[in-house]
Amino acid sequence: MRRRRRRRSADGGTPLERTVVPSFGGSLTGAAACVRASFAILAVMADSPTRSQKLAAPRGTADILPDEAPYWRYVRDTAERVCGLFGYKRIDTPIFEDAGVYLRTAGEGTDVLDKEMYVFEDRGENVLALRPEGTAGVVRAYLQHGMASLQQPVRLFYVAPNFRYDRPQAGRYRQHTQFGIEAIGDPHPLVDAEVIQLVTAFFSELGLRDYTLKVNTIGDSVCRPAYIEALRAYYRPRLDDVCADCRQRFETNPMRLLDCKEQRCQPLIADAPKLIDHLCDDCRQHFEALLGYLGAASIAYVVDPGVVRGLDYYTRTVWECHPAVEGAQSSLLSGGRYDGLAELLGGPRTPGIGFGSGFERLIINLKRADVTIPDDEPLALYIAHLTEGAGAVALRIAAAARASGKAAMVGPGGRSLKSQMKHADSRGARYVAILGKDELAAGEVTLRNLSDHGERRIAIADVADALA
Ligand SMILES: [Zn+2]
Ligand SMILES: [Zn+2]
Repeated sequence: MRRRRRRRSADGGTPLERTVVPSFGGSLTGAAACVRASFAILAVMADSPTRSQKLAAPRGTADILPDEAPYWRYVRDTAERVCGLFGYKRIDTPIFEDAGVYLRTAGEGTDVLDKEMYVFEDRGENVLALRPEGTAGVVRAYLQHGMASLQQPVRLFYVAPNFRYDRPQAGRYRQHTQFGIEAIGDPHPLVDAEVIQLVTAFFSELGLRDYTLKVNTIGDSVCRPAYIEALRAYYRPRLDDVCADCRQRFETNPMRLLDCKEQRCQPLIADAPKLIDHLCDDCRQHFEALLGYLGAASIAYVVDPGVVRGLDYYTRTVWECHPAVEGAQSSLLSGGRYDGLAELLGGPRTPGIGFGSGFERLIINLKRADVTIPDDEPLALYIAHLTEGAGAVALRIAAAARASGKAAMVGPGGRSLKSQMKHADSRGARYVAILGKDELAAGEVTLRNLSDHGERRIAIADVADALA
């Protein structure tokens, strides 16, 4: 299937990939035609001989199979519990939005806008985008629902999938799940400190201790423009010494020069002018107050001028948490203040701060750190039934066990005792209730404890209570 679709496409993408990721140079009419063409493709595919071939999850996506589920539940439960402790309430926004929500906020010259966003036109000719990141949709909802009239800051959190047409690599997926929080409506550095306090509480509750919290300030629209000029003046005569990406960043997104990971760019970064030396008074006071609060809360951090954001709406506080493992460049969590975002979405100037953290990467690090994860609810009772007519009784015994809060499973019909015992064992059952001909006639079961192999006959009505 895959090979066949590739051959049809000259540019390496499959027809469907080209449909959902139109280039932004193209007109919307073009996109509409493309979408209509894709419906035709779908009809052909549904009816073609390839139907008998195996389908697989799309490249860059992953099935979360039952063995992995305890990790996901652990991260989700921990995130929700910690958010509750800090007074954050859950918000769920749609997986897709009017594309304008992200087109206005993604920033020109960024990869997200240029090539990573899934944009499509639906059958009603609305131009929509799959959520590439969490913040813009939440701020859109804050504005739409008049949350500015509530006590500020409004404290919100979410656990939701994001979509980016990334090159798949370890810990990066085209659909990935993010835990994020947003505190919207308060410019005071005390909020920044409390949000970072939540970050450290989250990691501590997860059992992740081996990480570095790097904080920085990236100024605001008062002091940043002059700094960017100083940065450009420093790089201009040195462009021959930097990587190709950095030459591009020099033109489109100079702040990102500072977080280049290429070895050859490191000496230049080390000597580059620091924004921290170019801050206006308000930004300086904000940052000093934040560091004071972090110290007072005994939060360990390092100030790292290399922590930056490439988007203009980010202001002042930014931070990242990096695992201490050698060679781990990707951050566990990154956050920042975005006082300029609401205006881009058509709202009044509204301060805000938040962070996002990817589940996939958190789970990689939990495994690396050997953190013990609570297991699935164990199976308390397995009912093995050996005779015609026992199935119905088995269903009733199982129902009674579940009604008392014990997980129970009925063995499959028509199997031998040996096969059912093996099945019970592989599922980790604590007890097996055996329902043979004799037992059935006596209204009893043989209850076997799989850990000590002791067994006894008890009345069917007493099974649920006997599952200690
Ligand atoms: Zn570089
Ligand atoms: Zn400033």
